[in-house]
Amino acid sequence: MIELKNVSKWYGSYQVLTDCSARIGRGEVVVVCGPSGSGKSTLIKTINALEPIQSGEIWVDRVPLHDPHTNLPKLRAHVGMVFQHFELFPHLSVTENLTIAQIKVLGRTADEAKQRGLKMLDRVGLIAHKDKFPGQLSGGQQQRVAIARALSMDPIVMLFDEPTSALDPEMVGEVLDVMVGLAQEGMTMMCVTHEMGFARKVASRVIFMDVGGKILEDCSKDDFFNHPEARQSRTKEFLNKIL
Ligand code: ADP
Ligand code: MG
Repeated sequence: MIELKNVSKWYGSYQVLTDCSARIGRGEVVVVCGPSGSGKSTLIKTINALEPIQSGEIWVDRVPLHDPHTNLPKLRAHVGMVFQHFELFPHLSVTENLTIAQIKVLGRTADEAKQRGLKMLDRVGLIAHKDKFPGQLSGGQQQRVAIARALSMDPIVMLFDEPTSALDPEMVGEVLDVMVGLAQEGMTMMCVTHEMGFARKVASRVIFMDVGGKILEDCSKDDFFNHPEARQSRTKEFLNKIL
């Protein structure tokens, strides 16, 4: 579903991604972790072509992002992204947040968009809040709306960038529960997160990134958690800090 081949990126002279290669098959859940500044957010944004790369190749659902003929807006519409800070439109109601991109980007009618949006809102357990504004919801609820919004676009893959790290601890669980549900239903997911409980529960693989934007490890969940002796020393050091 996603293939990265020798992807490198620089900001000026600073190399933020170094020769990153990875493949994510349909239905796989890949957790990306690593220290702050190691390029996790940048990597995930390249998959949505939100960040250009200077060398390497990226395919999403067999569509090459590096090909100038690729219709990037069309592809992007079906790559769901959920960010740390929700990024809901504060001046629009929950329902309007769920429908606006379906109408403007996918060309759905207002009725179709509303039907789909409310179905997804129900799925994240928030149908009772459909007429509220984001500011009237808790952080955990806003993040669940953001997930419902992404799902309303019929994504072929969902990308999460630290979706729970801006939340109060008591709200982390409700967001992770939604993500676990998605994973168990077979959604292809790439999640930057340090929630190792989530990784243990649903990850197919864990990628560890280190400073300089290098993929230091890419291994099965079992190898990652159960064979510490095989881990690189940098990974062990990091895991000791967060576990
Ligand atoms: P992470 O998500 O792992 O914390 P990021 O991908 O956000 O890492 O950033 C990786 C590195 O790139 C950091 O050193 C950051 O300061 C730098 N960086 C990120 N965005 C920009 C930018 N727009 N211009 C210059 N440097 C940037
Ligand atoms: Mg980040």
